[in-house]
Amino acid sequence: MAKRGVSEGSGDGGVTVPKGTSGTVSKKPSGAAAKERSAKGAAAAEKAAATPVKKAKPPQSRTALVRQARRINRELAEVYAYAHPELDFENPFQLLVATVMSAQTTDLRVNQTTPALFAAYPTPEDLAAANPEEVEELIRPTGFFRAKTKSIMGLSAALRDEFGGEVPGRLEDLVKLPGVGRKTAFVVLGNAFGVPGITVDTHFGRLVRRWKWTEQTDPDKVEAEVGALFPKSEWTMLSHRVIFHGRRICHSRKPACGACPIAPLCPSYGEGETDPEKAKKLLKYEMGGMPGQRLKPPPDYPGKPAPPLGAAG
Ligand code: SF4
Repeated sequence: MAKRGVSEGSGDGGVTVPKGTSGTVSKKPSGAAAKERSAKGAAAAEKAAATPVKKAKPPQSRTALVRQARRINRELAEVYAYAHPELDFENPFQLLVATVMSAQTTDLRVNQTTPALFAAYPTPEDLAAANPEEVEELIRPTGFFRAKTKSIMGLSAALRDEFGGEVPGRLEDLVKLPGVGRKTAFVVLGNAFGVPGITVDTHFGRLVRRWKWTEQTDPDKVEAEVGALFPKSEWTMLSHRVIFHGRRICHSRKPACGACPIAPLCPSYGEGETDPEKAKKLLKYEMGGMPGQRLKPPPDYPGKPAPPLGAAG
């Protein structure tokens, strides 16, 4: 549950990471193969953007809806072959803390803040026993730093006292931790424990409504309706891909429709800029030639790493 006016973590987006990784996703290509797939994705985006587009009709039947949703997911998988959680972390504890800290801020700002925090307090025991004022100073750049300090110290104490210093891998245990609601719990389960989950953040909700996968605005209902369109095994990566697309192309105010590889399938094509040249200028992160959000992105990420706190950019 959100505490003290700070809404639940995962900031403007979600994260997702499978078990045994250091913030990277499994079944990923590596080295030359990864670069080739990434280049293919960028080329697919270019090609799609150069093709004249007519607004797609909303799917008229359940079968058509499932087909359209799965086609969009396949396209996204091509374009964002390197989709991954955008919080840096090396273990479930770091992911849990980072996700709680991501409420009301960007993953970039969290990633710029957590290295000093985890260097000072590497374990739940260390963080639970910290001086709160020192923790507040370290995480101040993420905003709401007093409430977040209470949450991350509180959850660290609970991990120490009730779970032997380990992050539990069950939803019912995770949601009892201070500052941890369903969204944060699913992020941790999906990415640190390999349990399939859909992360409904602001991007995910906006995009699935644009694609007419659901009309719901309540995250739990969105999760249920969208989940029913896909096999469970797709849920975690679907979340990454949709959030990647929302952060890079299908923005809230000015979606870059004219540079969007999903455009031919999208019933909301034209809600944003359709001129290809103007749309290209709206692209963000690696799509726009800019640094990403992670200071330590996975090896197959085709963009530049984010700068550390205080560096230009
Ligand atoms: S950018 Fe435009 S065309 Fe692409 S998914 Fe969003 S609304 Fe649809």
